[in-house]
Amino acid sequence: MAEIIAILNQKGGCGKTTTAVNLAAALALMDRKILVIDLDPQGNATTSFGIEKNEAEKTIYTVLTGEITMEEAVMPTAISGLHVVPSNISLSGAEIELSKEVGYHSILEMAVDGIGDYYDYIFIDVPPSLGILTINSLVASDSVLIPIQAEFYALEGMADLLEAMGLVETRLKSPSPIKGILLTLYDSRTRLGRDVYNNVKEYFGGREHVFKTTIPRNITLAEAPSHGKPCVTYDEESSGAVAYKKLARELLQLEDNK
Ligand code: ADP
Ligand code: MG
Repeated sequence: MAEIIAILNQKGGCGKTTTAVNLAAALALMDRKILVIDLDPQGNATTSFGIEKNEAEKTIYTVLTGEITMEEAVMPTAISGLHVVPSNISLSGAEIELSKEVGYHSILEMAVDGIGDYYDYIFIDVPPSLGILTINSLVASDSVLIPIQAEFYALEGMADLLEAMGLVETRLKSPSPIKGILLTLYDSRTRLGRDVYNNVKEYFGGREHVFKTTIPRNITLAEAPSHGKPCVTYDEESSGAVAYKKLARELLQLEDNK
């Protein structure tokens, strides 16, 4: 059975999509079967796998509206064992439409039911808000991975995120424990980078796993999507690719240590 991991943080630009795409690709290169569900109307994860998002008709939107099944929306990528459910701007209307449905917080959970048999991991790339799509991702997921940009305001908004997670746990009886906190756009050479890492560790007080692996600021990570490839296959020697492969190994080790 797949472990379903939602990659979330309501802050934009903290590396959610980059993490979903490259962690997924790194695990697929290690012979794991992986599905990425693009749940962001911006469709950046979709584009990062070289899929023309505006031509995609079978998208996560048509899955959530019940027109097609999740299985029907799955597309292969250039990497063996790595599949994606694409998204595009059509999803932007979903928040309002879905909110009219009974049990709207569990639509994604029901849609993903049954597809997990084939995969080792399913990653959900969540949009930067605490809206209905994010709530759906929390209900559908087994755990969450939170990328945090290593900057002065790194922890701003974290209390709101944890509160939303707490509400889903208590009101909807659907806990999603934190798999790990990931420092992104990290510069270990600066005092600020090291300070932020320590602040984050302190904030979670040893209760949550803060990945030892950090993701450096690396221009190749930003360039790869325009070539329609994850950075780990676009330039496997780049510091960004090396970091995401290391993160993949750390994630697998967490399972081994259980
Ligand atoms: P989010 O999904 O949280 O909004 P993205 O993964 O899309 O964040 O990243 C925001 C922007 O920063 C993108 O242009 C992306 O290519 C770039 N980016 C993300 N991580 C890195 C990194 N470690 N180094 C350099 N650029 C990065
Ligand atoms: Mg994103």
